[in-house]
Amino acid sequence: MRRIFLALGAALVLAAPAAAAAPDLGKMNAAELAAFMHAFPKGGELHNHLGGGTPAEALLAWAVEDGLCVDTLELAIRLACSGPNLKPAAEVAADETLRSALIDSLTVRHPGFRDRSGHDQFFSAFSRRGSLPKRAGDALAETLDGLARQNTFYAELMVTPQIAASRGLGAKVGWRGDPAKTRAALSDAGLETLVPAVIADTDAMEGRARQVLRCGTPQAHAGCQVTARYLFQAIRQGPPEQTMAQLQLGVAAIAADRRWVGLQLVAPEDSPDAVKYYDVHMRIVAELTDRGRKVPVALHAGELTLKLVTPEAASYHVRDAVRVAGARRIGHGTDLPNEVGADALAAEMAAKGVLVEVNLISNGSILEVTPQDHPYAWLRTKGVPVSLSTDDAGITRSDLSGDYATAVQTGATYDDLKTSARNALAFSFLSGEGLWTDPNVYRQPVAACTGQIGADSPKGTCADLVAGSDKAREQWRHERLLKAFEAGR
Ligand SMILES: [Zn+2]
Repeated sequence: MRRIFLALGAALVLAAPAAAAAPDLGKMNAAELAAFMHAFPKGGELHNHLGGGTPAEALLAWAVEDGLCVDTLELAIRLACSGPNLKPAAEVAADETLRSALIDSLTVRHPGFRDRSGHDQFFSAFSRRGSLPKRAGDALAETLDGLARQNTFYAELMVTPQIAASRGLGAKVGWRGDPAKTRAALSDAGLETLVPAVIADTDAMEGRARQVLRCGTPQAHAGCQVTARYLFQAIRQGPPEQTMAQLQLGVAAIAADRRWVGLQLVAPEDSPDAVKYYDVHMRIVAELTDRGRKVPVALHAGELTLKLVTPEAASYHVRDAVRVAGARRIGHGTDLPNEVGADALAAEMAAKGVLVEVNLISNGSILEVTPQDHPYAWLRTKGVPVSLSTDDAGITRSDLSGDYATAVQTGATYDDLKTSARNALAFSFLSGEGLWTDPNVYRQPVAACTGQIGADSPKGTCADLVAGSDKAREQWRHERLLKAFEAGR
C-alpha cells in the first residue's frame, strides 16, 4: 500500500506543472476577453478625471432632479434657465430624439458629430456637461461603484477644488518675474488660507458619495470598499500666475490632508497657452515641489501628435516634465518616441522608475492613435513602467476593463497586464512603504513579507507593515484578489 502511494505521489509530482500556465490572451475572442478583463483585479486607476468619468445619462438625470435646462441648439446642459434655446432638462429626458442627440453631444460615441474632430468633440464636451458642484459626490460615487464592479479597489482621481478663488487670487497678485517671487507674493496675499475650504469641499464630496453608496448600512454598495485619493489638477490655460495659484494651493492641501496626494496639470496640451507657457509651467512645478522631491507630481505630457502641434512643440514635453519638473508619472506619453533623444529618455525613465499612465481608448478617440500605433509596446520593451487607465470614461463611453482588453491588441500578455495592475498601486502616491523591493518586476517582496504574498492575513513584521502603510495595505488586498482570480481559472 505504502509503495503504491509513493509511486502515485511521484507520478503526481512529475505530472503537475510548477505553476499554472498564464492564459493566452491573444487566443481569446472579444467576448472571452471582455469577461476575463471585467473579472481580472486591475489594482487601481492612476489617471481618471472626476469631471469626465460620469456617463451622460447620469448627468441628465441630475439635471432633471436639480431643475436645470438644456440648450437645444448647442446640445448642452446649462445651470441656468434664462436665455435662448433653453428647455427644461425633464422635457429633454422625455424626448427620445433630443435625449439621444444630447448624449451624442456629451460624449464621443458618434464619430464626426457636428463635423468635429475627435479631439475637438472630446475637449469641447466638458463645457456642455454642466453639473452643479454639489454633484461632485454623486460623480465620485459613480466612479467608485464602477471600479468595484470591475474588481478594482483603488482610485487616484483628478479634481479641481477652489478654482475660482485660487485663480482669482493669482490674477490679483500677477506674475512677479519668476516662480520664486510669485510664490512668495501669493503666500503674502493669503493663498494658503484657502486650504480649509479645500478640506471642506473634500469632506462634502466624500460625505455625499457615502450617502449615495449607502456606506455603513446593510445596503452598502461595493463602491464603499474602494479607497480614493485625489490629485490636485490645475488648468494649463490662462496667465501662468493663475495656473501657479492653483498648483500652490494644491501643494498646501497635500501637506494638510492625506487624501490629497499629488499635483497634475490639465487641459489640452496643444492649446495655445499650454504650448506658450509649457516651459514656465515646468519651472513653476519645479519651484513648488523642489523638482518633485517634496511633493509627488504627475503631469500630462506628450498627449500630442503632429496633427495638433508644431514639430518643435512635439519634441520635448515629456523630457522637461521628467527633467525640469521632476514628474514621477507621465500622463499619456503618446508622443514620447518622437521626442529628441527618445531612447535615452526612455532609459532614464526606466532607471528612475518614472511611470507612464497609458490611456489607449482615450488616445484613439482624441489623438486618432490606434492601439497598433501606440507606444505602449515600445515602453514595455524599454522597461519603462506603465499602467493602464481610462482618462475620461464618461466621455469615451468605455471602462477600465475595456482599456485592458484593448491592450491585448498591442501584444500585451497576461503577465504584462498583471504588471500594469500591480504598478497602479506600487507607483501610486499612497503613503508608506510598499510590499515589493522591485516595482515593475515583482519577483522580490520586502524581507518582512517574504513567503507571505497572497496569504489570507499577514503575520509578524509583515502584519506591522500592512497595518502601518497605506500602500502596503492596498497591495496586500490586491495580491489576495489576484490569487483568488488565478485560482478560480
Ligand atoms: Zn487626462
